[in-house]
Amino acid sequence: MTRMTAVLAALLLTACTMNMQAVREPSRSYAVATAPPWQSMVYAARTDSGVVVVDLGWYGAGNDLRRALRRLGARPEDVTDVFITHTHRDHIGGWRAVRQARFHLSAAEAPYFQGAAHHGDLPSRTGEAVLGNPAPWMGEVHVRPFASDTAFVFGRDTLRAYLLPGHTPGHAAYLFRRVLFMGDAFSWHLVGGISPADEIFTENSQANRGNVRALLDRVLPLGVDWACNAHAKCVKPDSAFVRRITKGGE
Ligand SMILES: [Zn+2]
Repeated sequence: MTRMTAVLAALLLTACTMNMQAVREPSRSYAVATAPPWQSMVYAARTDSGVVVVDLGWYGAGNDLRRALRRLGARPEDVTDVFITHTHRDHIGGWRAVRQARFHLSAAEAPYFQGAAHHGDLPSRTGEAVLGNPAPWMGEVHVRPFASDTAFVFGRDTLRAYLLPGHTPGHAAYLFRRVLFMGDAFSWHLVGGISPADEIFTENSQANRGNVRALLDRVLPLGVDWACNAHAKCVKPDSAFVRRITKGGE
């Protein structure tokens, strides 16, 4: 590899995650990003009552998940609970590695995870036509849908789940250890930085922006150190951030 190629590769990789290390706690939690340049984040945490994972990445997700779990001294079979922000194929890739876990997602999103419904956006339809169903079929894993905002207690930790429809019909966000996992409810680009969710991948952009604003109004007062999207971009949720990701919303 020439020096120039190495520099470009490093720039690309550096550009692809942002502050992901900020949500890592030694031996307690670890976050990894699956295959660049797409970079889907997988977050794993050890709690008093099991190992919890938020989102499951894309290509190579099984290996990346194992890598994250090793940092916690855990194996895939130790994972008890998986929380999925939404079921686009780039966030559920590693499900086979943790098929024994309880899979939590919103009730509106569950049919998309079990082959009973199909996302309507063009990239999802194309992906399904070319690559097939990325998710388990009905009955292959334990799905635990939640129909309203719900708190899940894991010993001393509480994970709070919030409905955040817009990017997909049943998109959700999760607050855990002062990190707000926002899935694809906001985006980041090398040119332009933080922005509302990408329209091409988003079912209802207007609803997404309005629901993001309502969620942040409620959740930020609880104490949020970082807001991360599902592509490993973590941002301090200050007023400029809120303005940028809700631009054009209600
Ligand atoms: Zn998405």
